[in-house]
Amino acid sequence: MSRAGAARQRAPFRTEMGPGALLGVIMERGGGTRKDLIERTGLARATLEARLSELLATGFLVEDVAPTTGGGRPPRRVAFNPSGGHLVCVELGSRRSRIGIADLGGHLLATEGLDLDMDAGPGVLLGSIGTQLRALIARRGVDPGSVLGVGVGLPSPVELGGRMARPPSTGTGPLEGQWADLIVGQEIAAFLPALGISAAAPVVVDKDANLMALGEWKSSWPQARDLIVVNVDIGLACGIVAGGQVVRGAAGMAGDLAHVPDPDSDVRCRCGEVGCAEVTASLAAIGRELGYTTDEREWADQIARSLHEGVPEVVAAVSRVGGRLGRVIAGAVATLNPRLVVVGGRLAGEQPLFVDVIREAAVARLHPLVAATTQVVGTSGKQDACLQGAAFVAREKALDPLLIDALILARLGNR
Ligand SMILES: [Zn+2]
Repeated sequence: MSRAGAARQRAPFRTEMGPGALLGVIMERGGGTRKDLIERTGLARATLEARLSELLATGFLVEDVAPTTGGGRPPRRVAFNPSGGHLVCVELGSRRSRIGIADLGGHLLATEGLDLDMDAGPGVLLGSIGTQLRALIARRGVDPGSVLGVGVGLPSPVELGGRMARPPSTGTGPLEGQWADLIVGQEIAAFLPALGISAAAPVVVDKDANLMALGEWKSSWPQARDLIVVNVDIGLACGIVAGGQVVRGAAGMAGDLAHVPDPDSDVRCRCGEVGCAEVTASLAAIGRELGYTTDEREWADQIARSLHEGVPEVVAAVSRVGGRLGRVIAGAVATLNPRLVVVGGRLAGEQPLFVDVIREAAVARLHPLVAATTQVVGTSGKQDACLQGAAFVAREKALDPLLIDALILARLGNR
């Protein structure tokens, strides 16, 4: 039986609304007085008091005094307590990995990087993530028992069963294929108890670009409920928010722009096909067209430096590739009519030229209304958009009413 199913069967709460659901109502309204909450929920006074005392005793709520304009005793008010728990965030990348701790409000409290990427293989990378998380949790003085959820970003679309649909290839050495059948969420869940984190804490795994889209949206563009984030690195990744929801599609493959084919190209992609946007419209394409022979990991710096110096052939290559990328993005813009396209990655953050050519190609041939209403911008530069998004998905899952009910039951017993 699932944890949620078990919680439902054991739940001793006599009314329809358990403490988890009441917490949801209080968060939605940004807090409230008892009078507000009785009106809103229809709960009897005594039942409401019982639920509130459970939520206050377990630290999910705090109580303060509501501001008042009239005379008399001001009413007491309850509000969600972001310090009532913690979340762990993990970003496993093709070029870097990062970890972080957030409070239950989703605010990142501490982050740090690891000098390891997916090429290190699952054993080494996940082992190091565990070791560094333990150290970070201890350094911040966080009680590991207060960690209520974990969010993980992966450099691949994630199938509904949790496998990576496009696992990173780790060359032809002994690590080849090691990521392919791995369910990373399960691997991470398995080492949580060794860190002192409850085995009941949910682990949510998602494509890094989906988490970036969520992080960019909620942190930098909260008014835009429709946006596309395209992260341009050696590879390409795209995340979509439509109508205020991350779009994952029927099989978790939404936003797979990286493998949209360019019929004029015969460059082979790592996926086995030819002409994918990932090889024709990314930093890999710029480096290849410029004949770079250095390690791919250095190309972003190399291109940015030459662009800054105005080296003509680099400016030309960046313009060509940016134009191609803009035409790929145009398809997504025509389909979704987003308010915003956020271009992420090193070049977009530093080089207006790159975003300018993408913008021109992305909206030039679309309806004038699209050109007038769709902004194409470089990233806000928050390098932790992915960790931020991971905190948000972990928070949403951790605050699932049934999980909160089960947690309160475990902490307070059947009173
Ligand atoms: Zn491909």
